[in-house]
Amino acid sequence: MLIRRLLPGAAALLLAIPIPAAEPPKTVRIRAAWLLDVRAGKMKEGPVVTVEGNRISKVEFAPSRRETSEQGVIDLPGLTLLPGLIDAHTHVLLQGDATGREYEDQILKEAFPHRVARAVRAAKISLEHGFTTIRDLETEGAFDADAALRDAIAEGVIPGPRMKVVTRALSTTGTYPIVGFRSDWAFPVGVQVCDGADGCRRAVREQIARGADWIKIYANTGGLFLTPDHYIDSDRNWTKEEMAAVVDEAHAHRRPVAAHATSDTGVRMAVEAGVDSIEHGDSIRPEIAAEMARRKISICPTIWIGKYVAEPRAREGRSIWAEMPDVEKKSFQNAMSAGVPIAFGTDAGGFPWTEYSQALEFSAMVEDGMTPLEAIRSATIRGAQLLRMENDLGAVEPGKLADLIAVQGDPTRDVRVLEKVLFVMKDGVPVVSAR
Ligand SMILES: [Zn+2]
Repeated sequence: MLIRRLLPGAAALLLAIPIPAAEPPKTVRIRAAWLLDVRAGKMKEGPVVTVEGNRISKVEFAPSRRETSEQGVIDLPGLTLLPGLIDAHTHVLLQGDATGREYEDQILKEAFPHRVARAVRAAKISLEHGFTTIRDLETEGAFDADAALRDAIAEGVIPGPRMKVVTRALSTTGTYPIVGFRSDWAFPVGVQVCDGADGCRRAVREQIARGADWIKIYANTGGLFLTPDHYIDSDRNWTKEEMAAVVDEAHAHRRPVAAHATSDTGVRMAVEAGVDSIEHGDSIRPEIAAEMARRKISICPTIWIGKYVAEPRAREGRSIWAEMPDVEKKSFQNAMSAGVPIAFGTDAGGFPWTEYSQALEFSAMVEDGMTPLEAIRSATIRGAQLLRMENDLGAVEPGKLADLIAVQGDPTRDVRVLEKVLFVMKDGVPVVSAR
């Protein structure tokens, strides 16, 4: 009764309250000396990029403008604008594992919150270096903490790049550390172990339920050896049926599959199973490169880290690692000649985030025979294609997310200028400004 009596009055009150108009998205213009148009492969003079909210709405050129300080304008005189960079192979929850000992220390001794705290720092470093999007490929024993970090970044709780994650990678019994200790003790394993086609389907479903955007598998791991013609081979980790089951189950749930594959057998089985990216790809023969190009399977070559870990791993008695950089260079060149889509990936976390920049990969790619422009494309348009985000990322174009960086000089002449990023904007918000 009381409600009925109050209703007419309440309705009048509601009508009297003005409904606030939806706020127009915030507009900001960014002016710089140059823009690298990664698609056309051209440096263009005098860009003025208009950002509305978190997207680019206009890209214009006014080379002869005079500098003025206007409201809503970010001036970057003398600098070159590029799209935000994409690193398609990282490990924010790892802090360097050149040796087995370093890996074991993190898995066995570090408290879980401590690992997450260090990952928060790693995410911030990545963003500050201009990597506004990463595909983080395995937590190494930290379960689905990557999905939590991804969500916390998306909510704006902590600064970091936009993340695509895999939660726990998959491998089979006995193929992934921690191994080699006394057999009557149980040790944690850096991946989720699965065996048999049904068991592997179940493991894929579990990772998806925990928030995986991609599924990662270790196509091969231990027992690497040099072949007589100087490629690398190993035993297999999976049966054909197991790997096919993983790929089929992941694809049925619209999750692409990334395969760590460093040997002939690992790469061949992963390609035949129909994975979406080959990680590292240290041993790619011309014929398998042709098959990857035909099937449009990307490769993330991770060249710089291959050189970084070569010596410490060889010193540990794993002599094959001293040979890896040479074989990887040959494989990288085979992939380039065949037209395999190459996505930039660093394996950051395999080296300490606080000591080396992900951008070192650019000069490593150029040293191994790629042009600076192609190296930059691998971290922009090709990375966006690999992540199925080409409508949102990878170029400075109207409609794309407003992820921008700026450097001094022409990165198509000297790719090392990308090691010193002076301005970073992610989602329309400036996060680094050295000016
Ligand atoms: Zn990795």
